[in-house]
Amino acid sequence: MSNLDLFGSNMYKEVIKQYDEVTDFINLDSNIRERLKLPQRALTVTFPFRRDEYDEVETVIGYRVQHVLSMGPTKGGIRYASNVNLGEVTALAILMSWKSAIVGLPYGGAKGGVAIDPTPLSKQEKQRVTRRYTAELLPVIGVDKDIPGPDLGTDEQTMAWIMDTYSNFVGSPQPGIVTGKPASLGGSITRREATGRGVVAIANAALDKLNLKYENSTVVIQGFGNVGRYAALDSYERGAKVIAVNDLGGAIYNKNGINIPELFKHIAKNKSVKDFNGADNFDDEILEIECDILIPAAVGGVIKSNNADNIKAKIIVEGANSPTTLSADKILRDNGVLLIPDILANAGGVTASYFEWVQNTQNYLWKEKELHERLIDVLTSAFEEVWIISEKNKVDLRTAALIKGIKKVAAAKLTRGLFP
Ligand code: NAD
Repeated sequence: MSNLDLFGSNMYKEVIKQYDEVTDFINLDSNIRERLKLPQRALTVTFPFRRDEYDEVETVIGYRVQHVLSMGPTKGGIRYASNVNLGEVTALAILMSWKSAIVGLPYGGAKGGVAIDPTPLSKQEKQRVTRRYTAELLPVIGVDKDIPGPDLGTDEQTMAWIMDTYSNFVGSPQPGIVTGKPASLGGSITRREATGRGVVAIANAALDKLNLKYENSTVVIQGFGNVGRYAALDSYERGAKVIAVNDLGGAIYNKNGINIPELFKHIAKNKSVKDFNGADNFDDEILEIECDILIPAAVGGVIKSNNADNIKAKIIVEGANSPTTLSADKILRDNGVLLIPDILANAGGVTASYFEWVQNTQNYLWKEKELHERLIDVLTSAFEEVWIISEKNKVDLRTAALIKGIKKVAAAKLTRGLFP
């Protein structure tokens, strides 16, 4: 059985294809090159859980994958979605290694997930799934081993349950076991907003290069969850016009710009952005709306060869992980769209998570203002370095970011040498 079969998923295949192209380009040592295609550890667990209204138990499947254990603990989010599989989780863990290396964090990449649709789950059901999944992960997670965080379908409350379950097993409070916790448990507002605001900070740095101004831009955002909503808020605060957003419930459009703080009030009462009275409901594909900045911030694989040609944005900033397929990437490049890749654009999440983890492990609290400034500094410096690599090698930003990330991880592994 080949590795592609073992971790078989479109996302894994795409991540490896991308990796092959870049490692060819930088002529990476062939031993390390093959090694980094595989995760060091991949744990599959199955566990039963009980729905509220039935006596019977249901068995679900979960994963935790750790890609590289050479540079410090591993770090990566946990997602709940019905299509979660080993290949996808592995691909996302690999991307986390490059991402952490790009922004200079002392982490290897990890990712976890449970194959379950979180939407119909009651709070109690979600809590039961989370606590049991955490218990199954006990052999591989730890404050100095592997630190989960939120991702699709999980949130601050999920992280609080993981922390509580883990702390009960260990016998003492362990806030550093997860990041993205509620503020009452040592989380920070900066972490909550970091991915979305980081996406905007990076988009702003890219606009600077093109002599354009964020405040004069029109913005379209797919997804209004943790990433999408703070990208929208930051865009609004900078004076840009957020003309369209959507979520699983529907899409809304206002050519004069949507009032995002009012939209926050709307979604606090309603589950979806749909029916917001400061915009029109919109039935067409929002990815194809003409705009300056398009931020896909929902799920992977939404910009593909069959719709890439219809995209009219000047810049795409990938808030979601892997929203663009490799074939679409090439079409967008040919069409002159500037694409800022996920491993750079959404690195604000893991960067703020790192700050949270450092504070937890040192029992020390920084001010939110200081955290925010550090976050923006780390992200804009990483953007600048990637931009320089891209100009020097005459490659697109995804290739440049991968060159930076892969070289750094490979160097760490080679320097440590081979055991035994
Ligand atoms: P979330 O669960 O908080 O929100 C997801 C949003 O996308 C929801 O509004 C949902 O309704 C919407 N959505 C789902 N499928 C959609 C579709 N097909 N079309 C339109 N909208 C859809 O998730 P999140 O934490 O905001 O994560 C979003 C993406 O960003 C994921 O790809 C995740 O891996 C990535 N990401 C998240 C973080 C983080 O800090 N949360 C960090 C880095 C990357």
